[in-house]
Amino acid sequence: MKKLQAIRGMNDLLPADSSIWQYLESTVADVVQGYGYREIRFPILEPTELFKRSIGEVTDIVEKEMYTFDDRNGDSVTMRPEGTASCVRTCEQHGLLYNQTQRLWYQGPMFRYERPQKGRLRQFHQIGIETFGMTGPDIDAELLLMTARLWRELGIADAVTLQLNTLGSSEARARYKAALVDYLAARKDQLDEDSQRRLDSNPLRILDSKDAGTQALLNDAPALHDHLDDESREHFEQLKAMLDAAGIRYEVNQRLVRGLDYYSKTVFEWVTDKLGAQGTVCAGGRYDGLVEQLGGKPTPAVGFAMGVERLILMLQELDVIPAGLNQNVDVYVAAMGGAQSGVQAQAFAVAERIRDALPHLRVMSHCGGGNFKKQMKKADASGADVAVIIGEDEAAKGQASLKYLREDRPQQTLTIEQLLAALQD
Ligand code: ATP
Ligand code: MG
Repeated sequence: MKKLQAIRGMNDLLPADSSIWQYLESTVADVVQGYGYREIRFPILEPTELFKRSIGEVTDIVEKEMYTFDDRNGDSVTMRPEGTASCVRTCEQHGLLYNQTQRLWYQGPMFRYERPQKGRLRQFHQIGIETFGMTGPDIDAELLLMTARLWRELGIADAVTLQLNTLGSSEARARYKAALVDYLAARKDQLDEDSQRRLDSNPLRILDSKDAGTQALLNDAPALHDHLDDESREHFEQLKAMLDAAGIRYEVNQRLVRGLDYYSKTVFEWVTDKLGAQGTVCAGGRYDGLVEQLGGKPTPAVGFAMGVERLILMLQELDVIPAGLNQNVDVYVAAMGGAQSGVQAQAFAVAERIRDALPHLRVMSHCGGGNFKKQMKKADASGADVAVIIGEDEAAKGQASLKYLREDRPQQTLTIEQLLAALQD
């Protein structure tokens, strides 16, 4: 029979690595909760319409990357390719956007049918932030301050840089689009194939074409920032001033447009040169029009998402993963006696007392019998610092032996009270 395998581009996470994920996830949660953000969760499966209407029909995601199928009822459903649309849908449905501001975060798997490679998967994970109800550049700045703090906490601050741009209002963008199309249409034969196609469907995406010829052509193209409306220009200036005051370095990149339709004003990406082609670890921007586009009241919004797999690759690449994450046991409790002796029951009782009294310790009880040598081998492999041994003698006297596994110290026989005191330090 053919061996069953995971779907290509959908990774398993094994225990040896899950501790790194937990470390990253808890570090992010601590940082964002430290800024007053609250977690929100929404389903993995949503009506296909949600993503078509938010991300845009002529984006890479909707055109060719979505996992879409009909459910048993014949309704078209899609495995979420990103979180922003779902987050807006959830907030709208539960009235969270009515006359109030929100600072939210979420995490979980996202699904895109892409060509799997390093840092690019079909099931990947994002941690995202969305905020609602705040118009000014102050909240944009807060998001960037918060991410900068996160990079410092993780020890990767020196390896990421901030790319910043403003797309202007949708009217300004439409004016710019027209000017850009005018310029490029007259030089269509010099564009790469993808860009020729995008000239009709999504001309702004031509700005981030990887093709050298197209990029050269763009050097003399109309500049986005010459077409900005006053409000967007002012918003961008204020944002930059706040970042300057906070000591956050950035690079203004007028060609940064992001793939999705719904952005306006601020857009940004944190990029690294440590991961090859998949260098964007965190990306986002302002999307003041999206809530209305999905049927709600006009609501200013700004958010971002980071790619967990890419961040993990970076932690590994830069060798900044704290030592000892994989040590998941502190105390190993061994039981030396026959099944009928009551020693095992006594060993369980001692283990439970340790857990009651010292809840910060991780206590593993030996199961499966075996002689002293075998049990001490297991104790050693568990990573525990000490073994607590209950033999027939100890069980009879209500005592326990404490054996140090990593230090050259004599084994001690102790009362349970003495044992708890010894384990305390
Ligand atoms: P890219 O240009 O790399 O395709 P994107 O613009 O499509 O990225 P977003 O939709 O902005 O990505 O998602 C935010 C972040 O999620 C990205 O910056 C990246 O870190 C991560 N990400 C996106 N797609 C994938 C994927 N297929 N596999 C792993 N991580 C991904
Ligand atoms: Mg993409």
